[in-house]
Amino acid sequence: MNLSFIRYLKYRNIQDRITYLKWYNFIERSQWWTMEENDNYQWNKVKQLLEYAYDNIPYYKELFIKLGATPNDIKTWSDFRKIPYLTKEIVREKSDDLIPRNIKKSKLRYHTTGGSTGIPLGFYKLREEQMIEHAFMFHQWGRVGYKETSKRVILKAQPLKNNKLFIKFRFTNDWFMSSRLLSKEYIKQYVVFLNHIKPEFFHVHPSCFFKFTQLLIASKLNLNFYPKAVLCGSEPVFDYQRDLFEKIYKTRVYTWLGLAEGTTLAGECEYSKSFHVWPQYSYVELVDKNDMPVNKKGLVGAIIGTNLKSLDTPFIRYKSEDLATLGSNKCNLCGRNHMIFDTIEGRKQDVIIMADGGELLVALIPHMIAHEFNNALNGIKMMQIIQEVKGEILIKFSITNDFNKADEAKIRAIIKSACHDQLSVKFEYSDDFIRSKSGKRILFIQKIKNIN
Ligand SMILES: [Zn+2]
Repeated sequence: MNLSFIRYLKYRNIQDRITYLKWYNFIERSQWWTMEENDNYQWNKVKQLLEYAYDNIPYYKELFIKLGATPNDIKTWSDFRKIPYLTKEIVREKSDDLIPRNIKKSKLRYHTTGGSTGIPLGFYKLREEQMIEHAFMFHQWGRVGYKETSKRVILKAQPLKNNKLFIKFRFTNDWFMSSRLLSKEYIKQYVVFLNHIKPEFFHVHPSCFFKFTQLLIASKLNLNFYPKAVLCGSEPVFDYQRDLFEKIYKTRVYTWLGLAEGTTLAGECEYSKSFHVWPQYSYVELVDKNDMPVNKKGLVGAIIGTNLKSLDTPFIRYKSEDLATLGSNKCNLCGRNHMIFDTIEGRKQDVIIMADGGELLVALIPHMIAHEFNNALNGIKMMQIIQEVKGEILIKFSITNDFNKADEAKIRAIIKSACHDQLSVKFEYSDDFIRSKSGKRILFIQKIKNIN
């Protein structure tokens, strides 16, 4: 029995399936709601969420006591906006106090996220929330023709744990394509296999797919099919990448913003490249530097999200590190009454330069570590990556007693494997981190000048 079979069993679990279909149908109906219907839905959910959190979640009980209030005192959105933000630091420090007392821990799944500012985060979610995520994601991809049974090739920066070029999920129409062997030597084999599979969708990290596309062009080989769309997730897709993909594959590039903490999901629509924020997924606010609401089109604010999908993952007014530019409060092209983000800011793709001149996205390093470590992640409080010379980085860690030497070796090994030995890594343990002029934490400091 291999992993994909176990995944299949989980996926086919009847309860999961019911949750998925229930949500998919709900999303199908509610996507066209009026602004008033969206607002009523969100307000009712928020009220339920506050009451549930007050009754069952120690962190919120304590918070309300400190505020000298109860959920009954929250009567308007402006009252709601007085609730202090939930931050990464709080989630880290109080992770046990954020678990509902009426839920068995065995029903929860531990999730990890690398984060863009060097603070890894682990938290608990109900298993069913995964199905709800699928329902939103697949529905969203449906805007460019995706169906659950569509043939999909997935290319991500995570190395596969063998030297195969492709691995098929046993019971779905999905293939994993290895990013490890993307090179001149193997490109022909990739192309032959893809021409055999003829996927309808590529689902990719844009940086990896850009590398593949460049190799494809350089090799003068051709794919004998055009995909229905290239689904670009996890990283921002830059105009130069989008232009190249659309030109070479003669198809639509589709992208979205999904915060790993489950507090914001916003995708492009059938007709526009702006991000449509799902009102049924979460309640989203934008705030400026002084924590005042951003209400004017064209202004940038930090994304604050409240999870409305599940009472049991109580992310209320969670402040993310992501910034967005506010657009309109509806899309005139598709007609959905969704809050629109014209752009997502502050997701600059910093790159590490490897010994052979190749580039590695910095954000992938915390991502790889989070992926590898899973439950033991809380050993790292913070990290910072510094590059002074090509092919070499220094990783500074602030750690807890949960972290040990074996963890260091593990991190060294995953980076080495992902970078084909083109990057050496030094470690330093310290609580002294360089911050930006405004005091903001920074994940990466690139000291090599004139990279481009
Ligand atoms: Zn639209």
